[in-house]
Amino acid sequence: MKDLRIAHLYPKLLNIYGDIGNILTLKNRYEWRGGKVIIDEINVGDTLSEHDIYFIGGGQDIQQIEVSKEIQRHKEFLTAERDRGAVFLGICGGYQLLGHYYQPHNGERLEGISLLDAYTVAGDKRFIGNVTVKTDLVSPDTLVGFENHSGLTYLQGETKPIGRMVTGNGNNGKDGGEGAYYKNVFGTYMHGSFLPKNTHFADYMLELAAGESLQPLDDEIEKQTHDSLIMKAY
Ligand code: GLN
Repeated sequence: MKDLRIAHLYPKLLNIYGDIGNILTLKNRYEWRGGKVIIDEINVGDTLSEHDIYFIGGGQDIQQIEVSKEIQRHKEFLTAERDRGAVFLGICGGYQLLGHYYQPHNGERLEGISLLDAYTVAGDKRFIGNVTVKTDLVSPDTLVGFENHSGLTYLQGETKPIGRMVTGNGNNGKDGGEGAYYKNVFGTYMHGSFLPKNTHFADYMLELAAGESLQPLDDEIEKQTHDSLIMKAY
């Protein structure tokens, strides 16, 4: 197995609802298979080199302003990384900045880096609560999480939703889609942390990044946790 390099983008600014759990899940699950993981925290002003996985977490509008400006420096590099197949995961505020822009209620439009063909506009109400999503990307086909956002995200072109809402609001509360992906770039509104509750999605990301299939782990407890969070539609 190759050594896996993970870049955690702006952990000092975008890191709410235990977003760090996503990094820990990727690291532990790769190491439990005998692989080695190197994690680099990338903060404002830092340089950026090639990584296998890029993670960017959620935050509030105020932190997104600084990240929006800063991440433009890396736009060209990260676009090339996407195009050579690097894996990305953006959660909520980070997801919004992987698209073209986020337009807050008040103030200037915050530019994203357009790795996803998507844009986000602040809505009138805040979507808060547990969500369940059906997806074709992984098996079992459910994903669970917790959403808290007022931004409404719309997808275009080749960028497709990660799945369909069973319960919750997802991208915009209207079209039934949750999250987005294009190539190996994934964005979602699912906090939670997302990957500890959806270890099958964590393995999907790891296999894409490692370029090989990984041996199964004993996931009985993780599976029970996941299943206990599946909300039934009424
Ligand atoms: N500011 C964004 C919104 O409310 C992001 C929120 C978040 O990351 N939890 O839409």
